[in-house]
Amino acid sequence: MAYAIPPWQPPAVAIDGAAELYPVRRIYCVGRNYAAHAREMGHDPDREPPFFFMKPADAVIPDGAAMAYPPATSELHHEIELVVAIGGAGRDIPADRALEHVFGYAVGLDMTRRDLQSQAKKLGRPWDMGKGFDQSAPCGAIRPAARVGHPDRGAIWLEVNGEIRQKADLADLIWSVPETIAYLSGLVELRPGDLIYTGTPEGIGPVARGDRLRGHVDGLGELSITIG
Ligand code: MN
Repeated sequence: MAYAIPPWQPPAVAIDGAAELYPVRRIYCVGRNYAAHAREMGHDPDREPPFFFMKPADAVIPDGAAMAYPPATSELHHEIELVVAIGGAGRDIPADRALEHVFGYAVGLDMTRRDLQSQAKKLGRPWDMGKGFDQSAPCGAIRPAARVGHPDRGAIWLEVNGEIRQKADLADLIWSVPETIAYLSGLVELRPGDLIYTGTPEGIGPVARGDRLRGHVDGLGELSITIG
């Protein structure tokens, strides 16, 4: 196949303990998936159906990266999240078969231009420019499920400059990983290369140039970035 302009390599995420990379096809994100975070954002955490937004695949940046402070915001926020990496295609996947479609898990950050997102919410406009900007999806190395299993409890936390900002337990997810996969695959076909950022717990807040962020999920290692 000849292309009129040079084609790009697929964006990719490291796999812990492997030389091969995990190519990224799409990035889905779940909104408001921890009750305490839904409350801090002014919403009723009752089990409304999960909702989703997207980031471009090339928004991923690796562990250890320096993230440039993005343009057009004065309110860059951190959201620490469990990331699911899909390994098997499917649509209308039942929750009790969902984990068969998971390749592995990683620690991720759903970086957010909160001022742009808030303005979009107020005006009933799309969230894309608040959520889907360059470098907005830091993602640590993926741990294959074949090795680490399928974590459904355990600590998830984020430190900024050594101080804990977010801390919760995966068991607090409103929609579990299997339920999230079941819902999402009823809306779109999931395929290998799809990442799902599963939502953030309470404690979101701003970061500034020079800040050091260190995120952790039990069993999945850590993700560190600096804001440049
Ligand atoms: Mn999020």
